[in-house]
Amino acid sequence: MSKLLKVNDLSVSFDTYGSEVKAVRGVSFELDEKETLAIVGESGSGKSVTSQAIMQLIPMPPGKFAGGSIMFEGEDLTQKSETQMQGIRGKDISMIFQDPMTSLNPTMTVGKQIAEGLVKHQNMSKNEAHKRGVELLKLVGIPNPEARINQYPHQYSGGMRQRAMIAIALACNPKVLIADEPTTALDVTIQAQILDLMRALQEKTGTAIILITHDLGVVANAAHRVAVMYGGKIVETGTVDEIFYKPKHPYTWGLLGSMPKLDSGAEELQAIPGSPPDLADPPKGCPFVTRCPYAMKVCENHMPDYTELSDTQKTACWLLDERAPKVEPPESAVVGGAKVHE
Ligand code: SF4
Repeated sequence: MSKLLKVNDLSVSFDTYGSEVKAVRGVSFELDEKETLAIVGESGSGKSVTSQAIMQLIPMPPGKFAGGSIMFEGEDLTQKSETQMQGIRGKDISMIFQDPMTSLNPTMTVGKQIAEGLVKHQNMSKNEAHKRGVELLKLVGIPNPEARINQYPHQYSGGMRQRAMIAIALACNPKVLIADEPTTALDVTIQAQILDLMRALQEKTGTAIILITHDLGVVANAAHRVAVMYGGKIVETGTVDEIFYKPKHPYTWGLLGSMPKLDSGAEELQAIPGSPPDLADPPKGCPFVTRCPYAMKVCENHMPDYTELSDTQKTACWLLDERAPKVEPPESAVVGGAKVHE
């Protein structure tokens, strides 16, 4: 598999009154064709800013690229003009947003919104685009697509609107699909259907997917690899199995501990105490230092390097230094009752 997208040491900041908010601080990851990478983390961890940076949807100013590159098929997207990005967005890289009601245009029929991209990027006639729109609505499971294509978003249910968003995003067979919390606003049954649909479409079209979410349940169902973000940095990355069964970062332990488990019998979910760092004045060392129960003196002033635990897993934590005390993950971070941490 070739690397389709390579984000290298990306930093994105926002100039606000009197300070610079460093929302993304030196983030690197790669995406292969036909792969789903989940980026997980709390609100404010930098995951959505990272995805918006790839699409160049960050208003500049106040936003700015503070360093790094986003290589897509060998070209740096941070160097593209708005006109060049208009030729890429929707055609090569598409995005599904969290809330379809605010992302769909309420004054246009769903059919017209699907057709827009097809006419612009694929040079289709209006008739051809309409026919393709019906096919796409059928593909994403909208009943009676011939009639539904002429309806407005408010005439769709929440689940159908999200499906319509997916149809619009997939219209031009993008190479990369960025799904930002695509199922957050939906109930669990529809959520499962949407995730199944994205997986089936990926198999059919080969699209690579970046899935932005705070929900590890969604990750387990939909992703191949995971990048855990905290305080504008990726603190741990690995395959789904590595992150769920051999996590090494205390923040990943906290995320796993806050997941509901059917077999635990615990009545209350474990929250991670404290709040995320102020990215206008981020900690000098590890971003998790103020909330980490294992924090040491070194964590305050020095950001740990990544320790490579396998070809696919790497973790930035001082606990992996040979001089650090040996710490076992808490019981709450053990998934499926299996103690498989090495
Ligand atoms: Fe905790 Fe230190 Fe590891 Fe950060 S580097 S997660 S503060 S032990």
